[in-house]
Amino acid sequence: MTKMDGKGNMNSTKEFRCLVGKNAIVTGSTSGIGLGIATALAEAGANVIINGFGDVIEIDKLRMELAERFNVTIEYSDADLTRQDDISHLINLATANFGDIDILVNNAGIQHVSPLEEFPAEKWDAILAINLSSAFHLARQLFGGMKERGWGRIINVASAHGLVASPYKSAYVAAKHGMLGLTKTIGLEGAEFGVTCNAICPGYVLTPLVEKQIPDTAKARGISEQEVVRDVLLAAQATKEFVTTEQLGALATFLCSDAAAQITGAALPVDGGWTAH
Ligand code: NAD
Repeated sequence: MTKMDGKGNMNSTKEFRCLVGKNAIVTGSTSGIGLGIATALAEAGANVIINGFGDVIEIDKLRMELAERFNVTIEYSDADLTRQDDISHLINLATANFGDIDILVNNAGIQHVSPLEEFPAEKWDAILAINLSSAFHLARQLFGGMKERGWGRIINVASAHGLVASPYKSAYVAAKHGMLGLTKTIGLEGAEFGVTCNAICPGYVLTPLVEKQIPDTAKARGISEQEVVRDVLLAAQATKEFVTTEQLGALATFLCSDAAAQITGAALPVDGGWTAH
């Protein structure tokens, strides 16, 4: 349908523009699930800081495409979330460009697949830093402002691996279980201030993160890559289908809407039935 936006421009848009005027940070959004969520929030009218690594020219093209398509402002930060200084720079960039930050999506994450006794200690440190600690550092710095303004949304992209474990993923499973504890705590602390915090727990989504672990899983288990997809990745996913980034973007947008104001501290599986077993 065609609508007038806040600036008086004619704008072809979906009816669900519930986030016009809101400002969001989505970490790890140059690719995969983060990009799906950033796109959905922009489609709902939010201005978004995208973050992550990749080809700078491609990222700039993406930034301009999203801004033009959804008539919002999109900025980019290359902050490396293992670094405290970079996290502060990301927040400074966001507040300098947008002012108040209303929505924080902690999505950046990496994986390493290896038996425990061979698991490199530096991979443990990196996974804990990116997949868990960065969510704490960002939420800690943005939470006070959200509480003061009486509105905020923090969405942590955890995983089905925040609810159940798989072998050879010690650091990832530990970080994702930790993410659920952080989510519950922030949910409780924000509950009387209009600030919700929830975790989305996806099953397998066919993104670069998953594509990259197929050869290592094949090696660790001594099976072929096709067998990894059929017998490992989708074995527990009852639908036998990958979750899509669009489905996760739609849930994130819903969690930011007023209809979701009473959902907080929750871990929401989007896993094709995996954790129903
Ligand atoms: P992806 O590899 O496609 O994207 C990861 C993003 O994080 C990229 O933008 C990358 O540049 C960014 N990133 C990596 N290291 C970073 C760092 N140090 N600082 C800043 N950004 C960094 O992965 P994805 O599959 O889209 O995963 C996104 C999130 O979803 C992760 O937290 C992951 O654990 C979670 N998840 C993924 C799946 C899945 O099946 N793909 C399932 C459950 C949960």
